[in-house]
Amino acid sequence: MLDILIKNGVYPDYSENVLKKGNLGLKDGKIEYIGLDEPEASQVIDAADRVVSPGFIDIHMHEEDFHEGKKYVIANMMLKQGVTLAVGGNCGVLYQTVREFRDTVDELGGAPINYMMLSGYNSYWTALGLGHFDKSSPEQRKSIIDSMKKDLEAGAIGISFGIEYDPGITEEEIIEATKLSDDDRLLVAAHYREDCLGNIDSIEEMVDIQSKINKRFQISHLSSCSALGMMDESLELINSYMAKDPRLNYDTYPYNAFATNMGSTVFDPGCLEGWHKDYSDLLLTDEPYLYQFATKESFEDCRAHYPEMLVVAFVMNEDEIAAAIANPNGMIASDGILANGHGHPRAGGTFPRVLGKYVRVDNKLDIVTALRKMTLEPAKRLDMEHRKGDIHLGADADLTIFDPDTIMDGPSFQDLDIPNQGIDYVIINGQIALKDNEFVDDRLGRFIPYSEK
Ligand SMILES: [Zn+2]
Repeated sequence: MLDILIKNGVYPDYSENVLKKGNLGLKDGKIEYIGLDEPEASQVIDAADRVVSPGFIDIHMHEEDFHEGKKYVIANMMLKQGVTLAVGGNCGVLYQTVREFRDTVDELGGAPINYMMLSGYNSYWTALGLGHFDKSSPEQRKSIIDSMKKDLEAGAIGISFGIEYDPGITEEEIIEATKLSDDDRLLVAAHYREDCLGNIDSIEEMVDIQSKINKRFQISHLSSCSALGMMDESLELINSYMAKDPRLNYDTYPYNAFATNMGSTVFDPGCLEGWHKDYSDLLLTDEPYLYQFATKESFEDCRAHYPEMLVVAFVMNEDEIAAAIANPNGMIASDGILANGHGHPRAGGTFPRVLGKYVRVDNKLDIVTALRKMTLEPAKRLDMEHRKGDIHLGADADLTIFDPDTIMDGPSFQDLDIPNQGIDYVIINGQIALKDNEFVDDRLGRFIPYSEK
């Protein structure tokens, strides 16, 4: 007998790019039945008028900082937006070593979602006392690489760089670091060197890196780099390169504002002029300026005294964001990040926002294409498509059931707790994790090490 039968719904068939009618039977964490019959099951979910999608895979987010407490905050928000697998450790940043992260997930009895991790170059750069614009010595580079190798041993699936955060990191150094293992299945991801005026040069640098390494390379959160007037040119460059080497790809998120720490080089003098924006386009996200738009005085106070505070910068153009989402290449990812529980709503609303705003309301892309960019494409990047990101017999039963007519993001820039609409169920490893925005079981996810890919 099946554990769960999900009947009367439709699911994406990526080979034909259609939504197909079919009942799904789940047993022991796997999809065991697909068809039009109704085999006996302990539990039946009626998914009439609903889409039964593979669970969303967020290939670019920022995991918990367990130094803030051994508890989940961002993973809970991920689950509430239908994410069943997330990849942390992006943009060169780790809040703890991969071993520490993995052990803490075990200690907490699992996680709300499945997690995979990258190792972050910048974290080890900073740990050595290197400043943003310093140059590393050969000994220092060896030390960083040794630390990253330990993360790979602990189960990391790749490595990441935040070039803009520490511009002292050279292209040669990145290429050298990617040789820490000759495994061509390791994923390499990088946050560009410079947005705005340096945008095309930054993309060219990443394309050049890709051409010199025998690995998959991912350009991080493209819209935050290019939706400032250079998206057409950026997409042309990326698409033409991808036609030759599809191991390059990018992720992007659906908001016209980015967010990063106040102390970052991103907010160095001249940033506002470069963006043609003012202090009032920056939203401060923690006390003593919680959800206040900045003034010259509060901006300077935060730069001096609250460097860890996340700042939301409304600097991107809406039509360019849509272009990055609708482009045939590219994946949807949240880049979700929180500090002290505060941050940018992308941590909680990215996937329903794409399906609600960009698919249903603005009609920028069709629903199956959008789902492919948030399930099958990231699964392929992770070498997980035999198990995740697609509905087929034997696949892991990670599923998100939603109403395509009502799905929409809830979290706003001033209130991250507004619930998303239209997500009925999230199923992880064959069991119900979330029903109607309420947790049923928030420990169904686990850390997935590289060895289990
Ligand atoms: Zn980044």
